Amino acid sequence: MSATTESAAEPTSEPAAAETAVPQAAKKTPAKLVFAAPRRGKPPRHLADLTAAERREAVVELGEKPFRADQLSRHYFARLADDPAEMTDLPAAIRERLTAELLPPLLTSVRELACDDGRTLKNVWKAFDGVLFESVLMRYPDRTTMCVSSQAGCGMNCPFCATGQAGLTRNLSTAEIVEQVAAGARALARGRVPGGPGRVSNIVFMGMGEPLANYKAVLGAVRRITDPAPGGLGISQRSVTVSTVGLVPAIEKLAAEDLSVRLAVSLHAPDDELRDDLVPINNRWKVAEVLDAAWAYASRSGRRVSIEYALIKDVNDQAWRADLLGRLLRGHLVHVNLIPLNPTPGSKWTASRPQDEKEFVRRLEAHGVPVTVRDTRGREIDGACGQLAAATED
Ligand code: SF4
Repeated sequence: MSATTESAAEPTSEPAAAETAVPQAAKKTPAKLVFAAPRRGKPPRHLADLTAAERREAVVELGEKPFRADQLSRHYFARLADDPAEMTDLPAAIRERLTAELLPPLLTSVRELACDDGRTLKNVWKAFDGVLFESVLMRYPDRTTMCVSSQAGCGMNCPFCATGQAGLTRNLSTAEIVEQVAAGARALARGRVPGGPGRVSNIVFMGMGEPLANYKAVLGAVRRITDPAPGGLGISQRSVTVSTVGLVPAIEKLAAEDLSVRLAVSLHAPDDELRDDLVPINNRWKVAEVLDAAWAYASRSGRRVSIEYALIKDVNDQAWRADLLGRLLRGHLVHVNLIPLNPTPGSKWTASRPQDEKEFVRRLEAHGVPVTVRDTRGREIDGACGQLAAATED
């Protein structure tokens, strides 16, 4: 049965393998995974790459007293200063040397796109070596969420995802990730986002890239983002979500860090047969292994795991798959985010019919699994999940 001709009507039991609605194009997609980022030049060292102790050491190496590191940190993390001229408590000569060495400009905005009356802002950033990546700020009445990229491109090759199709260019550094948040925080603090001056309250690592494939830099960024000001941005760990397609050893490593950040697993299919195609990493770690690692993370962190599930018409939105997902998840510390698939140019993958989406929700709820259909903020500017491909042209 082809994906486009299968009836939406009510399969209640699992069909035979030959009947599953996987488009042939997906079957043919080579499951090529890239874990090791191509070797490229490193971004310049930045204050946000360093721990508090390393910042003091760096300042001493530059011939200054350690307390200068704390002054610089206060300017960067607490005051969100990006102009050395504002750092008037540092004598001019010292200021020039320290900012040149420890606060080099890392990101240049090459494009800013707004929608939702200016409350959703996507930035395309260019790094020192010309690579492009994106962040999205989403302001809601009760919170402002920054969605940040962890890699330029992505090596996980999910066939429905614009970023995955472009491949992996390189890992971002800790400071390149933190700078995306700092830039959003500056825009809010300076009243550039409608709704008056505000603060970033939530961070989701759901932009370009597989965060756990760039583990060290992402962990450093989580620490800089959540360390109390003025040593860090002072955002609560509970307000940070790190997503993954299911790199099991890295999930286990993250659990051992004893953080209280939320883990989000991009599952997208409850059965290995379909997930092997939709999320090629599944050829390495199967659904059961990924969920076992997720439950271990939940019990160690005390946080509910988010299961991300992009609903794709006639591919993964059948009633029997909702039931299978419900059976896998019930009784666990979990919440499901259903994501109406965002259309990407030239892709035949499309969002589920409203009645199929409703039935999927109903069946999950019948299994006692909490579920939300995610807001598709940013869709008009290609800023929603799976759409970040860092184009600079329309
Ligand atoms: S869905 Fe996520 S993991 Fe998969 S290719 Fe896209 S960015 Fe990478």
